[in-house]
Amino acid sequence: MSRRKIVAGNWKMNMDLESGKELVGNLLQKLNSIQKTEVVFCPPYPFLSSIYDMIQNSSCSLGGQDLYWVEKGAFTGEISAEILLSVGCKYVIVGHSERRKYFSETDEIVNRKIKRALQSNLIPIVCIGESLDQRQTNQTKDVIKTQLQNGLQGLSKEEIKKIILAYEPVWAIGTGKTATPEQAIEVHQYIRGTIKQWYDDQVAQSIRIIYGGSVSETNARELLSQPDIDGALVCGASLKSESFFEIIFAAEQSN
Ligand code: PEP
Repeated sequence: MSRRKIVAGNWKMNMDLESGKELVGNLLQKLNSIQKTEVVFCPPYPFLSSIYDMIQNSSCSLGGQDLYWVEKGAFTGEISAEILLSVGCKYVIVGHSERRKYFSETDEIVNRKIKRALQSNLIPIVCIGESLDQRQTNQTKDVIKTQLQNGLQGLSKEEIKKIILAYEPVWAIGTGKTATPEQAIEVHQYIRGTIKQWYDDQVAQSIRIIYGGSVSETNARELLSQPDIDGALVCGASLKSESFFEIIFAAEQSN
């Protein structure tokens, strides 16, 4: 089964509106040659509408960096799935390691957020991954399994097929240390195998599993040409049009 590659740029708490628009403008000029790869921009919330206006007639998509699991109400500072949808989002990142670390997000919260996103027809990009300590003590697969087990609890086969899993080893995020293709493949195959065991082969072959963690223009080709790596979640290198385009181009060539 062929899965469409996806490259998502998570700007985190970077850029201002003008530099964000300049980045997207520059990229849109180059993206005409990209046919097979889906490109997603996940800017800070206040920029979503402006970026949507720029990309709405292109093949690019918009994503939120997080959401709250309640439909609406008195939750100052939070953002709902419906609000994200109303400004043009198709995707939303859920369970990023920074949310888990700095905002105490548990697998149970991640599970609620995934369900909320799916109920509103937003596609969750669900981040999972081990810390350096967990890798060094051979706990990687156990950690991944627990995050999957708790995070995906109660989802139907149809729902699982819709989501995107992002394997992001925490030690590789923003550090310049990328997982080797062998390390990434081992975990991607483990994730797909686990999904097959819990659901079925069709679900396992449908779900897109992308890699994140210091993806750059220099390592993208090697990572993205692996059959089990269906794209990338990128932060640092997504903040410059040249490097983000090179990553998108690497995904396109490997489609
Ligand atoms: C991330 O934070 O999800 C990420 C992959 O960051 P970077 O590309 O900067 O390592």
